[in-house]
Amino acid sequence: MEYVIVGNGIAGTCAAEAIREVDPEGAICMVGDENTLPYSRPMISMVLAGSVPPGKLLIRPENFFEHLRINPVLGNRISAIDVDNKRVLMENSSQSFSFDRLLIATGADAKPVDADGRDLGHIFCMRTKDHVLQMLDVLPQTRNPLVLGGGLVGFKAAYGLLKRGLKPTMLITSGYPLSIQLDKTAGLMVLDELLDHGLHVRVGISVKSFEGNGTVKKAHLSDGTVQPCDLVIAGKGVSPAFSFLPENVPVNVGILVNRNLETGAAGIFAAGDVAESLDIVRKTPWINAIWPEAAEQGRIAGMNMAGRPVAYRGTLSRNVMRIFGLDLMTLGVVNTDASSGYEIFTKNDHRRKTYRKLVFREEVLVGAILINQMEQGGLFLSLIRNEIPITIPRENLLDPGFNFRKLMRG
Ligand SMILES: Cc1cc2nc3c(=O)[nH]c(=O)nc-3n(C[C@H](O)[C@H](O)[C@H](O)COP(=O)(O)OP(=O)(O)OC[C@H]3O[C@@H](n4cnc5c(N)ncnc54)[C@H](O)[C@@H]3O)c2cc1C
Repeated sequence: MEYVIVGNGIAGTCAAEAIREVDPEGAICMVGDENTLPYSRPMISMVLAGSVPPGKLLIRPENFFEHLRINPVLGNRISAIDVDNKRVLMENSSQSFSFDRLLIATGADAKPVDADGRDLGHIFCMRTKDHVLQMLDVLPQTRNPLVLGGGLVGFKAAYGLLKRGLKPTMLITSGYPLSIQLDKTAGLMVLDELLDHGLHVRVGISVKSFEGNGTVKKAHLSDGTVQPCDLVIAGKGVSPAFSFLPENVPVNVGILVNRNLETGAAGIFAAGDVAESLDIVRKTPWINAIWPEAAEQGRIAGMNMAGRPVAYRGTLSRNVMRIFGLDLMTLGVVNTDASSGYEIFTKNDHRRKTYRKLVFREEVLVGAILINQMEQGGLFLSLIRNEIPITIPRENLLDPGFNFRKLMRG
């Protein structure tokens, strides 16, 4: 059996390990355009912050490829897939690789900033280790860093710059940070926390154009003001990376996959940020572009590719993070209101900076936000994942001291 894995991120890595577990003999070829052993993408911002050296990002030992007998084809991109002849074609050479089973685990590309002058020097996105290494070259002469976007990447970039002793300005188009993961109450708590820790955050504002002389010097903003900047880091979201995909493989936002993570083309699988699979709580195909999902999908795709049928239980959005003095966990659907058929319970203590929110659809928990009261977070995750009906008064679950054994009896 010949396996080709495209993408050497966490999804591709976990798939290779799963294949080798099930099939000790098959030939595995891994094509990846980053010339590196697998590394932790979520931790690249720690390199920016100076708290982790680049060499410490690796998540597998140096002998990873030899140990699993993988043929690594790194620093190379595929440009096309010939579905009928079962071959992947390379971008910069006439080389091609044949496959019986193919995994597309190409992740996502950072969305470019929608502003004139975006090609000026010292304007970066933050998706790869190399992006951060390029930023490090510019840091010594940086005085006015600007971060675009209030999502996870924007927040991590701003935090990293702050740790370097710089005073970044953060521009957020929506009214509060982390607007995909949080509701307004939680988002405004995070905003207060960022402001309290010296970040200059401006909400409801975006960049119209950049100006500079080779490198960026200022940004013209949507409110007519001008922001001086000599380093820009854009965290404006991502798009699944599948430009090489033939038209006969069905896509929506990402590559559509079934319960076995196989695409509409037999023998071709997809996993990670590039794949769109059934969301457990939304009940519709969705991409939750997070590390644990990519790892799990990679592993399950690998099993199925190697002939051991395993059904994926579906994707679920979840994030755990610390933002200065706030510990934060979000699960499932949180940005919804009661009028859309959901039942919502909240408990908020502004002075203590605590917040708990639980979202139910009928008897089933479908979302939660916990800030600085993390009790039962793991249990909530399990209730959501397993769609366990809650038959006792649901608001009782807001209490961090709630005795969950009552659920079993309920
Ligand atoms: C700065 C940052 C912080 C993050 N923080 C968190 C966090 O705190 N928690 C969390 O859960 N998630 C976080 N994420 C998201 C997480 O990193 C991703 O969900 C995860 O890395 C996706 O893994 P993947 O294997 O699907 O794709 P990727 O990690 O993107 O790997 C795909 C690989 O395929 C390569 N590739 C693409 N196209 C081709 C091609 N045509 N040919 C060959 N190779 C190709 C890419 O270069 C890349 O190396 C963060 C992401 C970033 C960028």
